[in-house]
Amino acid sequence: MSTVKSIRDLNIEGKKVFIRCDFNVPMDEFLNITDDRRIRSAIPTIKYCLDHNCSVVLTSHLGRPKGVDSKFSLKPVAKRLNRLLDREVIIADDVIGQDAKNKAENLKTGDVLLLENLRFESGETKNDENLAKELASFANVYINDAFGVCHRAHSSVEAITRFFDNEHKAAGFLLQKEIEFSQNLLKKPTRPFVAVVGGSKVSGKLQALNNLLPKVDKIIVGGGMAFTFLKARGYEVGNSLVEDDLVEEAYKIIQKAKELKVKFYLPVDIVAAQTFSADSVIKFVTTQEIPKGWMGLDIGPASVRVFKEALSDAQTILWNGPMGVFEIDKFSKGSIKISHAIAEAHATTVVGGGDTADVVNRAGDADEMTFISTGGGASLELIEGKELPGVKVLTTRDDT
Ligand code: AMP
Repeated sequence: MSTVKSIRDLNIEGKKVFIRCDFNVPMDEFLNITDDRRIRSAIPTIKYCLDHNCSVVLTSHLGRPKGVDSKFSLKPVAKRLNRLLDREVIIADDVIGQDAKNKAENLKTGDVLLLENLRFESGETKNDENLAKELASFANVYINDAFGVCHRAHSSVEAITRFFDNEHKAAGFLLQKEIEFSQNLLKKPTRPFVAVVGGSKVSGKLQALNNLLPKVDKIIVGGGMAFTFLKARGYEVGNSLVEDDLVEEAYKIIQKAKELKVKFYLPVDIVAAQTFSADSVIKFVTTQEIPKGWMGLDIGPASVRVFKEALSDAQTILWNGPMGVFEIDKFSKGSIKISHAIAEAHATTVVGGGDTADVVNRAGDADEMTFISTGGGASLELIEGKELPGVKVLTTRDDT
């Protein structure tokens, strides 16, 4: 089996290392970082380089600025890094401008330089080769540790790798872990393997469902997407979220699961409301009895019991997508209870997707999960069986 080359496979001693990080952290209106997990996750790779007498050039995007915009500056990230690394972090005023060039050129062993937000350069999202060349000129080694952007062919992710040979480019520890857990888990899971899929729409997860079906023993479907499946089974779903154009596709998935002897679980009861709001009156109803004008916004207690039972013998669990509108307390219980059930299972548990990671954190279960993926879109694309552009361009080594 081939896996992506790791930073450990390279000789980086004393070199200048370019690390593409994912410092795309949430901030409040005063530009305070509200969750620094992404910064903390990058520390092992940075420390490894510093322990090998390197100097490092760190890069990331932050938000979606249209050109240079101080609201999207990486300065707050530099400050936080400074504290986490307990050493000075030099911040460049630009990405590939004179300031960045001077600072990169004068780096000494142990120095840490953070370039400004990559998206201040319009070429970044266009996979521009000239930008990539300029960025590559700052270092001798390229490390990608930004799983969250690997599904995008951007300059600092894809084009830049053309300027480094196989002995000078690899994945950082975080990226390596992400790939091992999400991709290799799908290749040889310990059985029973149960996938728990939720979230708003079938359309967003259709490919993931189709790719998972031949690999899993059971599929549990919750969240808004369950209603398209319930409709495909002939139930009235009231005003619940339904994608009518996908009802037939949903029916096919249910049939395919039957053929493959994959157990397919849908909610048996739901928490229903007439409006999508925190102060709406709620009702617990079975899925066969959703009243006209009402919509399902969470799975009900009986569904939680059924899903828990289905999870009880699992050896591997993959979870992507909340079971209800977890952002509103009233509709978050199903997701929280399923989070507890997954956390307590004696299984390898992998959580993907930003919303699902939020649920797990809110439930206080983060430490109990085997692995929580940091990149929503990228982790979904791995589950869909796609090859990520940012990973494809890093050389593989043969582990067999
Ligand atoms: P996704 O981005 O597709 O994973 O969907 C996540 C979103 O699905 C969350 O914001 C939830 O509020 C939403 N969601 C979950 N269950 C439902 C539901 N029953 N009806 C409408 N939206 C839902």
